Amino acid sequence: MSKPTPTPKGLAAAAKKLKEIGMSAIMQRTGPLTRELLLSPGVFGLGKVPERLKPDQTTTMVCGYCSTGCGLSVHLKDGAAVNLSPTTEYPVNLGMACPKGWEALTPLAATDRATTPMLRNAAGKLIPTTWPVALETFVKKFKGIQEKHGKEAVAFLGTGQIPTEELAFLGALGKFGMGMVDGDGNTRQCMATAVVAYKQAFGFDAPPYTYQDFEESDTLVLVGSNLCIAHPILWERVCRNPNKPEIVVIDPRKTETAMAATQHVALAPKSDLTLFYGIANLLIERGAIDKTFIENHTKDFDNYRMHVQKYDRERVILETGLTGEAIDHLVDTIARGKRVSFWWTMGVNQSHEGVRAAQSLINLALITGNIGRPGTGANSITGQCNAMGSRLFSNTTNLLGGHDFTSPADRNKVAETLGIDVQSIPDRASASYDQILEKILKGKIRGLWIVATNPAHSWINQDFFKEVVSRLDFLVVQDMYASTETARMAHLVLPSAGWGEKEGTFINSERRIGVLKRVSRAPGQALADFQIFRLIADAWGCGEMFANWTSPEAVFEILKKLSRDQPCDISGLGDYEMLDRKGGVQWPYPADPTAQDQAQQRRLFSDGRFFHPDGRARFCFEDTRPMPEPTDAKYPHLLLTGRGSSSQWHTQTRTSKSAVLRKLYPSEIYVEISPNDARELKISPNEWVSIHSRRASIKARAFVTHTVQPGQVFVPMHYEEMNRLTFPSFDPYSRQPSYKACAVRVAPISNYEE
Ligand code: SF4
Repeated sequence: MSKPTPTPKGLAAAAKKLKEIGMSAIMQRTGPLTRELLLSPGVFGLGKVPERLKPDQTTTMVCGYCSTGCGLSVHLKDGAAVNLSPTTEYPVNLGMACPKGWEALTPLAATDRATTPMLRNAAGKLIPTTWPVALETFVKKFKGIQEKHGKEAVAFLGTGQIPTEELAFLGALGKFGMGMVDGDGNTRQCMATAVVAYKQAFGFDAPPYTYQDFEESDTLVLVGSNLCIAHPILWERVCRNPNKPEIVVIDPRKTETAMAATQHVALAPKSDLTLFYGIANLLIERGAIDKTFIENHTKDFDNYRMHVQKYDRERVILETGLTGEAIDHLVDTIARGKRVSFWWTMGVNQSHEGVRAAQSLINLALITGNIGRPGTGANSITGQCNAMGSRLFSNTTNLLGGHDFTSPADRNKVAETLGIDVQSIPDRASASYDQILEKILKGKIRGLWIVATNPAHSWINQDFFKEVVSRLDFLVVQDMYASTETARMAHLVLPSAGWGEKEGTFINSERRIGVLKRVSRAPGQALADFQIFRLIADAWGCGEMFANWTSPEAVFEILKKLSRDQPCDISGLGDYEMLDRKGGVQWPYPADPTAQDQAQQRRLFSDGRFFHPDGRARFCFEDTRPMPEPTDAKYPHLLLTGRGSSSQWHTQTRTSKSAVLRKLYPSEIYVEISPNDARELKISPNEWVSIHSRRASIKARAFVTHTVQPGQVFVPMHYEEMNRLTFPSFDPYSRQPSYKACAVRVAPISNYEE
């Protein structure tokens, strides 16, 4: 695609507008790249027609909410997006979309969009300021902190919600340009467990499947995954399966998906690892395993076999609360299946032993030979639209492109590809999210830059988060809205464009790289995160390091080079237009044409070769550990958390802006409680009740329902106060928070105590 050419009239209008909002001062001071960027047609709402597009056309792009990565056809009139519909020919969603996708344009027009930079004044109020002042303050404050406390005293927290090119820019700017060592992202909250599980087992973070597998399995085992509402289009793919598949849902709650399943295994919360070791033991005892596959493609089977012998049927019955018949039925189902696929989401990942639980599913796929063939796999479903992009290219835990910060060879490769001094690349990965908070608490980190995420709502044990962040010398929040719980705490808010207002690529759960486009103008002075990073690089004085990072598509070319010879090699991909035309492309797609697979649906490991140097997958296992905060006499209910409905997204910064979506979910926080518990506690349906944990007390409406078992309650994560209750425990390998289980007490509101 060619770059848009600014017309003289357009340039004059741009220059006038820049003068009005104070940006002309930046133009005088900064390098040619920033000048060119600021004069581009379309920056700050100038001009009518988005670049690359005709004023009255329909164009395709991927959705910006969840990792399913549906294709949406956006309809333009007079140069502005007026409506959208799901793309029928896109290989992901085949003409379907969930309510969030249908309403994706609505949040762009919200009245609380951040339209100017905002700076906290001496009276403690956030007030509008200009970009020049914002940039100057950003640089002055963060450099001041670094001069006084060292370069590592500033860190960033990113997201899986912005395009890969922007994630890479943030990570490279923060670490190579500004000298930070610590920078993590909100993928820590959802996918870190799967990342570590895959890396240890397969040798690389590589979800092996393609969505077609939902339709080709004869047995689907869904673990801790309420697919019906969390990934509704993927559930639709299950419904298209012509094989009348056995659908097993393993979940303590009778979720919407469990109700639609052929088998619901309602195990005790956090007993999944015991169950999967027990199933492995029974499968091995019966000989219902694929000895040839194990012998040719795995390592350490004998140790694993001996390990799972400790989890005999009696122990599994005792620890999971399941009947022997239910366990046998599940073992029969897996043994009988010819194409068994194992799928998991947050019920597994968000656990104190999530990595081992995920690996216990990988182990089941390995011992039964259910991997690398259609309809099989040990398949982690991602959460955010670009969690996979973040995993590979955010420069947080991994060095850009799935490389290793601790490897001199990898650092040299990245330095050479980027044309930068290798000394500017840290030789260690970032501290994890929770460790960054600990460093703030200890005064080691004093400046924090949060981009497109809302941890003051979403982080576990919320009051602690707020207390810690309030100690920072300087907090910058870069977001579409100045109204998020986190933005309200900031010293400086940088207004950013959202999905639909900028370009780039996302990588979905099945490794498919899809394109997003600019079909709408960001309001006021809001800028694409890419443009903000560009401005900051120049203002910081490291703009030259990013001389080639001129546009998202230019960065995409850099990322392609960085991925060369990695398992996620995408060096053979063309430009955005090629991705768009092909309906997205799954990685890998190397430059060597003989190694390119042109199929639209591709899975990994069909040759049985994994990414460890010897080509063999590893069995990873260890003894189970007790839940960190079990129930007791004072806190007798176990709190489960999760998604509330398909109309709600995470902290609701966007979904709450749509009147259509608001009609589809309860406006007030609610707690699901079993009829038995409600009767015993004298709680009536819809009554306000109190929920107390050792951290905090909140109020919620009682939703009396059989979906939860006695002794358990469920609160959706979308309501602000929910994470005041959660207990901060973490998987030791992934440092992912264990949101799903903590001890609480529910009581009628008359007994409410603060
Ligand atoms: Fe968007 Fe996910 Fe809904 Fe598809 S399922 S429309 S990607 S939110």
